[in-house]
Amino acid sequence: MSSSQHQGGAFRLVQLEIKPLQKAHNENTTTMLENIELLTTLAKDIEGSSLPDDPEYERNKIQVEQIDSIVRDYLDLLRMTKGHTATLQQILESPGIDLRTVSQFYDNNIKTNTEKEYDDQSIKKVEEYQNFKLSIMQVHDPTAELDWNQEGDDDDDIQLSQVTIKTTCPWTGSNLQEPIQSKKCKHVYEKTVAFQKLRTGGGFFECPIIGCRESRITEADLVESPSLTFKIRKEIKRQEEEKRKKTESAAVDLSDDDE
Ligand SMILES: [Zn+2]
Repeated sequence: MSSSQHQGGAFRLVQLEIKPLQKAHNENTTTMLENIELLTTLAKDIEGSSLPDDPEYERNKIQVEQIDSIVRDYLDLLRMTKGHTATLQQILESPGIDLRTVSQFYDNNIKTNTEKEYDDQSIKKVEEYQNFKLSIMQVHDPTAELDWNQEGDDDDDIQLSQVTIKTTCPWTGSNLQEPIQSKKCKHVYEKTVAFQKLRTGGGFFECPIIGCRESRITEADLVESPSLTFKIRKEIKRQEEEKRKKTESAAVDLSDDDE
């Protein structure tokens, strides 16, 4: 902690006010990402319900475009929410603030943090929008790729979503409910377990991931990431679905044997 001791009390109050707000914001963000995912599935179903040569394809396409504009509305909401979340984080990282100056600070920072509305170009750089567009394109052509990023050198961004995500807590091995990430090594833990480790370890713990050399992770190093939470939940759902299908087909095999 870099804050001087005598400021600690006033700042502690600010923290107490801000942390629940931040938690609510993060939950909202995760829910919005889940809604975008549902809209993506819906758009894919509509796109897949007819072939480009079918007479009803044009009408379906209009529906897909309507969903597209809802997704963009959601992404704009997300942009605003991110700006608010970033502002809350800036407050938490400004130990000089007390309850009297906090709202002024908020008003000043929120402007710069939520400034730029998406336009037809900037929306293309948003990962969730890229995923949405690509999912629809790949309904009829699984090899389709977006050709948006060609002018930039960061065109490997889309492939990032393919990276395998760890969905379990390194200490308990259980599926992550409330993931929290170390800013230092990017490893992810179950929040309640990590805070328990902080308490029993005297304010810090050693990263339990084998091969990780972070030996002093403190509360200040731990952050909640709504998009990471969303990705982890999605991956857990996918794994559960896979398991369910396996059990189902195993059950079918068994009943086949009976006959
Ligand atoms: Zn680590």
